[in-house]
Amino acid sequence: MTIRKLSPILINQIAAGEVVDRPASVVKELIENALDAGSTRIEIQLFHGGKDLIRVSDNGWGIASDELPLAVASHATSKIADEADLAAIASLGFRGEAVASVGSVSHLTITSRREEDESAMQIIVEGGNATQPKPIAASFGTTVEVRRLFYNTPARRKFLKSDGAETTRVRDVVQRLSASHNETDFILKSGDRTILSYTSCSSTDRLLDIFGGELAGEMLELKGEIDGVRLWGLAGKPEVARPTSRHLRVHVNNRSILDSSMTHAIKEAYRGLIEPNRWPTAAIFIEMDPALVDVNVHPQKSEVRFRDRDLMWRLVNKTVSSRLLEEEFVPLYNPKESYQHTGGGQQQAFGTGLSSSFPIEETRQAVAGIELTQPTPMPTLLGSDDVLQVHKCFLVTQDAQGLLIIDQHALHERVMFEELKKRMVQGNLESQKLLIPESFPADSSWLDAIETHADLFMKLGIDISPSGPASISVYALPTLLVSRNVDGTEFICDLLDKLGSNNFPTTEEEALSEILDMMSCKAAIKAGDQLTQQELKDLLHKRHEIERSSSCPHGRPTTMRLSIEELEQRFGRR
Ligand code: ADP
Ligand code: MG
Repeated sequence: MTIRKLSPILINQIAAGEVVDRPASVVKELIENALDAGSTRIEIQLFHGGKDLIRVSDNGWGIASDELPLAVASHATSKIADEADLAAIASLGFRGEAVASVGSVSHLTITSRREEDESAMQIIVEGGNATQPKPIAASFGTTVEVRRLFYNTPARRKFLKSDGAETTRVRDVVQRLSASHNETDFILKSGDRTILSYTSCSSTDRLLDIFGGELAGEMLELKGEIDGVRLWGLAGKPEVARPTSRHLRVHVNNRSILDSSMTHAIKEAYRGLIEPNRWPTAAIFIEMDPALVDVNVHPQKSEVRFRDRDLMWRLVNKTVSSRLLEEEFVPLYNPKESYQHTGGGQQQAFGTGLSSSFPIEETRQAVAGIELTQPTPMPTLLGSDDVLQVHKCFLVTQDAQGLLIIDQHALHERVMFEELKKRMVQGNLESQKLLIPESFPADSSWLDAIETHADLFMKLGIDISPSGPASISVYALPTLLVSRNVDGTEFICDLLDKLGSNNFPTTEEEALSEILDMMSCKAAIKAGDQLTQQELKDLLHKRHEIERSSSCPHGRPTTMRLSIEELEQRFGRR
């Protein structure tokens, strides 16, 4: 094959592959253009999930008739002029290729009229070829119509999902963009059905429009700032956590972005409050000097690169976690929503009264077999200091509101996590020299991990180094692990595996918190450990001292409360 220059149409089709992959990405680009043109009302109409027609009409400032051919040409934009502009982008668009890309894979019509124009002008593009603009009757603003998307790229068209699925994606895009543009009206229609209709309102109300008004009492307001980077937003109470991350939104300078580190910072703030497989409901908005964030890293502009990633993580995590700490969240035992355990997915033994899942017959038979003897008096729990260990696994005690049932492992793990974290921050995580260093065989990935994460090991009080071309020796470990008889070699091997895995966090703060989590899990009292009365009391005592003791670091609850009202109801006293 000889090397040849690609035709401009082919170049655009290839570029289009990156920018527009489905109706939702077309809608995103068109709405962004409407917003950049100062629109206060944007209407989106779809037919057949946008496969047959996407129409976006706005009331923005429009396009001059002699500029219409430029609007549909590639690499033509009114938003940036030089490198300095590129380094500090204030608009949503800047690449100048969206409209041209869409025009190369559809039948595109743009009709636009500025306030000073006598009449609207229209330009038509088919498969990349544009007509001369012609006058046509239309009101102020711009309407872009995209017909038969991907008609000339059948492979791409085949990848589209059902009309309903494509409409859902468009809906998601409209919600994302409207979250940060609360003063603009948005209307989304599919056929003759109105799917979304948002009118200008406060930013909080817009979020509630999007998340659902029923969350009104469930959201906490966020406000934070570090070094001139400002954050505001709403964070949902743990009860409104969701099974997917769809209700977790991050915006930077009014742009909705996908950023795993920011998502992690939010999720981490909920550590211990929600289960790890659930996602908080939250929307955060970050405002910062555009020069400190590069938005030109992704063809669909949905990812950004921060100059100071650690600062961003800290800002988000700190703002959310300190707001959550202002509330005292104890998971309340609610018989109507039995708690799903993360591991087994098994229902808790509590059912709703005599729910259909309650094995009445088996229970009756089992009870019938028990010979009734003289009842032994039950010990009475007088103060909240009294505690019973049940099945070497749970602790039962009381507080002012009712009965508390505590998972001994989960609580101890939580207590230790908080202690370790505190000591870490204060810089006095104690380390203990091993009488006999532990040595074990190691592969090159482990040896690499020791070198790459030398700082981390030092901070944690782990003295470790290669003791040959394929072995490692450990000379000192955190005192906590030694005092709790944790198998040092096993811990280090697990840690080295973790450090070498792809999904190990890249910021130091995330990494440390993950390792402390691992340490406390290994060192904590296990289910099945018999505790002395003193140990029980000590543990309960610590429960009061630590912040957020009501869930373990993995997010499983440590404590459940059965309220007096609930008990009274169950015994027919109410
Ligand atoms: P970009 O948004 O990156 O500049 P586009 O290809 O999306 O590139 O749009 C090209 C140009 O067309 C924009 O810079 C803008 O001047 C003009 N344009 C597109 N859509 C609109 C609109 N709805 N209202 C006003 N101008 C528009
Ligand atoms: Mg654009």
